[in-house]
Amino acid sequence: MSVNQQAHAGPPYGQPQPGYQGYQQPAYGGQPLPGVPQSQYGAYNGPMPGYQQPVPPQGYFPSLGFPSKGSPVSLNSDTSSLAPNFIGSLRAPPTSGAPPPASGASLPSGHLAYSQFGHGDVQNGIPASAAPMQRPPASQPFLPGSAPTPVSQTSTFQQYGPPPASVQQLSNHMAGMTIGNTAASAPPPAGLGYGSPTSVPPVSGSFSATGSGLYTPYTASQGPPPTSVSQGLPLAQSPFPGQPVSAQRPPAQVPGFAPPPSSTGIGPSSYPPTTGAPRPPTMPGPPLPGQTVAGPPTSQPNHISSPPPPSAMSGPHPGPPMSGLHGPLPPTHPPQPGYQMQQNGSFGQVRGPQPNYGGAYPGTPNYGSQPGPPPPPKRLDPDSIPSPIQVIEDDRSNRGSEPFVTGVRGQVPPLVTTNFLVKDQGNASPRYIRCTSYNIPCTSDMAKQSQVPLAAVIKPLATLPPEETLPYLVDHGESGPVRCNRCKAYMCPFMQFIEGGRRFQCCFCSCVTEVPPHYFQHLDHTGKRVDFYDRPELSLGSYEFLATVDYCKNNKFPSPPAFIFMIDVSYNAVKSGLVRLICEELKSLLDYLPREGNMEESAIRVGFVTYNKVLHFYNVKSSLAQPQMMVVSDVADMFVPLLDGFLVNVNESRTVIASLLDQIPEMFADTRETETVFAPVIQAGLEALKEAECAGKLFIFHTSLPIAEAPGKLKNRDDKKLINTDKEKTLFQPQTSFYNNLAKDCVAQGCCVDLFLFPNQYLDVATLGVVPYQTGGSIYKYAYFQLETDQDRFLNDLRRDVQKEVGFDAVMRVRTSTGIRATDFFGAFYMSNTTDVEMAGLDCDKTITVEFKHDDKLSEDTGALLQCALLYTSCAGQRRLRIHNLSLNCCTQLADLYRNCETDTLINYLAKYAYRGVLSSPVKTVRDALINQCAQILACYRKNCASPSSAGQLILPECMKLLPVYLNCVLKSDVLQPGPEVTTDDRAYVRQLVTSMDVAETNVFFYPRLLPLTKADVDSDSLPAAIRNSEERLSKGDIYLLENGLNIFVWVGVNVQQGLIQSLFGVSSFSQISNSLSTLPVLENPFSKKVRSMIDMLQVQRSRYMKLIIVKQEDKLEMLFKHFLVEDKSLSGGASYVDFLCHMHKEIRQLLS
Ligand SMILES: [Zn+2]
Repeated sequence: MSVNQQAHAGPPYGQPQPGYQGYQQPAYGGQPLPGVPQSQYGAYNGPMPGYQQPVPPQGYFPSLGFPSKGSPVSLNSDTSSLAPNFIGSLRAPPTSGAPPPASGASLPSGHLAYSQFGHGDVQNGIPASAAPMQRPPASQPFLPGSAPTPVSQTSTFQQYGPPPASVQQLSNHMAGMTIGNTAASAPPPAGLGYGSPTSVPPVSGSFSATGSGLYTPYTASQGPPPTSVSQGLPLAQSPFPGQPVSAQRPPAQVPGFAPPPSSTGIGPSSYPPTTGAPRPPTMPGPPLPGQTVAGPPTSQPNHISSPPPPSAMSGPHPGPPMSGLHGPLPPTHPPQPGYQMQQNGSFGQVRGPQPNYGGAYPGTPNYGSQPGPPPPPKRLDPDSIPSPIQVIEDDRSNRGSEPFVTGVRGQVPPLVTTNFLVKDQGNASPRYIRCTSYNIPCTSDMAKQSQVPLAAVIKPLATLPPEETLPYLVDHGESGPVRCNRCKAYMCPFMQFIEGGRRFQCCFCSCVTEVPPHYFQHLDHTGKRVDFYDRPELSLGSYEFLATVDYCKNNKFPSPPAFIFMIDVSYNAVKSGLVRLICEELKSLLDYLPREGNMEESAIRVGFVTYNKVLHFYNVKSSLAQPQMMVVSDVADMFVPLLDGFLVNVNESRTVIASLLDQIPEMFADTRETETVFAPVIQAGLEALKEAECAGKLFIFHTSLPIAEAPGKLKNRDDKKLINTDKEKTLFQPQTSFYNNLAKDCVAQGCCVDLFLFPNQYLDVATLGVVPYQTGGSIYKYAYFQLETDQDRFLNDLRRDVQKEVGFDAVMRVRTSTGIRATDFFGAFYMSNTTDVEMAGLDCDKTITVEFKHDDKLSEDTGALLQCALLYTSCAGQRRLRIHNLSLNCCTQLADLYRNCETDTLINYLAKYAYRGVLSSPVKTVRDALINQCAQILACYRKNCASPSSAGQLILPECMKLLPVYLNCVLKSDVLQPGPEVTTDDRAYVRQLVTSMDVAETNVFFYPRLLPLTKADVDSDSLPAAIRNSEERLSKGDIYLLENGLNIFVWVGVNVQQGLIQSLFGVSSFSQISNSLSTLPVLENPFSKKVRSMIDMLQVQRSRYMKLIIVKQEDKLEMLFKHFLVEDKSLSGGASYVDFLCHMHKEIRQLLS
């Protein structure tokens, strides 16, 4: 079988394909997915042409600098209706002070559970993991351990009895990871396909029809696909020298290679009759700066008739010249015999020569009729199929140097793996919104035919790099933001002012609205308001409005939010040192609560609760000499025993809080209580926020399945035998609806829950996660938590989580121009109706994915428009609206859709769609549906956009050429195809985590980054070039780093030079390297410094602090590592990339036949 990832097909070359047999995955081939609803039309007023660099408008300022309202609530009364139990200094307060040092202790290998995913949230702009937090200048001096004074009642201690027997009932499923056992069944060497039709071609030379080289990449990364050349097609003269095949960039790689016109396939003649009318050369919009526009493809005759280009690289391609960066370049390497040039050679040379490749390019004579003898069986060469590394590298080199300017409708942004700056000139930055396609079909029939999902992945509060400007805050005065009278869309760059500026026509619904007198402005001769550049809402894609009281709950401006820390003080939590660790950390962390702009101190108030089977509330009012504890043992009907003194200002109550945090670990040091409650803890926090009439966040630190008698009590229902049965879905569902109802109440109050879990066994993440998930919170999980090895990771996550930007009591609505509408939503939130996404809290890392369907026809002229409006309360209690606008193109030709898709975003959507599907359908059904949908997407392209070619050739659209490899990674993921070492809690955890991930996170999560450390340049800050995730790419003499956003592995080959081992690990031989290290030793040599700084750099880029795992080649832990070599066949039965590609090809052929 041949693989051709071209946009438009290569010429048919009639080599018969040996049928390949079968892909051994269990029953592939699902049912067609439901189609898209139909619709008709809507127009919007089009993008604003020619943006100028916005001038800093007057009258508004970056939101950061907005003065806050200050914290209104004062807590002064000193009454409590309940008699408090005073906690005195029963024991000497710990001498503490400084947080425990980061340790580099060893991790017990037995616990190196795969289950320990990383945590932490926050990705941009967060202090580096190890970086010291900055102390706000204004902060008050911290008074360590104020004198413990009076009193204290010890009565509360009586409640701790001996550990109940019930603990024993907890299951032990998580214990004893089976990593070691699985080793026996090692996967076959990568790349060895099974039964695939392709075998290694005997000879060198040209491609045979079935040869591996079929796949034809072309590099113009964003450019329209021109075409299809079948890859590898003969550029006869430019065979490349036998270069090492490995992961390096193939020599042939020519940035900006212009596809031969002939291959464009867009010309009418190239279409098979079935496609209907000839396609006009549709170019989506004007060429974008920095973007390649392949010229109108056009009317060129298809390849068959065009003369063969002289050579792939230098030949004058009949096609239109490429613009911008992508112009054709001269070959960087002289043609060398033995290797086929693959179109632009982006994907590595062909490993083996391919016989029988008659024609060169498409258009070459021999092409279509391949008379040769049947090719010998051969396997598909992994180097000849689309390489994620190559695509990433190409995008970086093509698009990383120029800023991405958002002034033009429908521009496809650079990949998430490319570093680029964004200039907002009227459309939201891709950091806020990414779409699966930037050119959407005009009709629902067309959308349905293509099966390409239309979705936007939105991160409304995304952190921006320091070089980019935060959204400006606009104040429209007492009457609030100017909006359309009918659809209520907010003023934006696409509204059209008419009648001399007295009215404006809505770009979403076309309704005409009067301009309020205070907002009136004259128009210039082009119809543009003269204050256009002074108003962010007229010239920028993203900005904020100050909300009026009409946008507030109960028509009252909100109070500043509160943070409540709720610490499990049961036996395991105390014994592991966790309680002490948390208390120590909070003493300093409380000085870093989120602040608005340049405020001197945070407006956020704090409160403290500890719990096991009962709850302990603490009065930390500033006027007290010592904190007071109140115990609530009636957990069936939770209430908050004190109103005043529970939520306090950190600076005012500093002494009392410090005293409390010193005392908590001592008070529970001898506890024998092992049972915990959980729902009452959330209820308590919720009630406290209700009493205080504010929104807020609960930080719950929890260790075990809540089996104590209380509402929300759970039982251990883990059962891995359910895997691959119709009941598997129950493992992902909560075991009681109690938590769903609780979540609903929390959302109504703006009570967001962040949950830190420290399980030693099953604790039912699927159920405990319901409230965090539905309130927009985060879940962190540290299985088998050990102070020495895990405290760094936990503390870094906690610091990031506490400090990160978050909006409270948030509601998001996405409006669209007529013709499409938002129909489905994915993420961590709650919905009480079909349009409003409600989140008790929304932080800077959380993503909401929105799917759109047609309800009318769209127009190419007007395009389509999205407006995401997020109403939220800032950390200082200010009510605001954040608006993001994005304009997209619309097309009547499928080719335009296929050349403007974004595969990373598509995968983000598909993963979320599948991960939600497992809640209601058998996992196999979900997998089959995914495969089927992607096969339909690719088959539609093949049928309608690619030039006719042999059925044996797999033809992929240029911008979807990675769809198969990435899709396979999703199919092999722990949720959809768990290996034996993956626990039920891991799966539930990952399922929820992925649902809120942005595109960059899903990209590296599903296709991890693998870096050869020994190739790192110790004198530069750069990272070594990544390599493909396959075992065959690893050399025994090298050391590699693999990261997926949750874990970092350092893999050491058995033949690594002793000097390197000494430099990195400080030991003299391979056998002495400890695989229980959780950090690398700090050694003063260039290699050690380089590797450690690389790891620090990676940690900062991710929203959670990744767990470091050292893996020695041939060690038992290597099985865990191999799980992440996603191009290889997996132990859990997941297909290798090569095999999966063969399978997809088969699926596509079936659909086309
Ligand atoms: Zn409207």
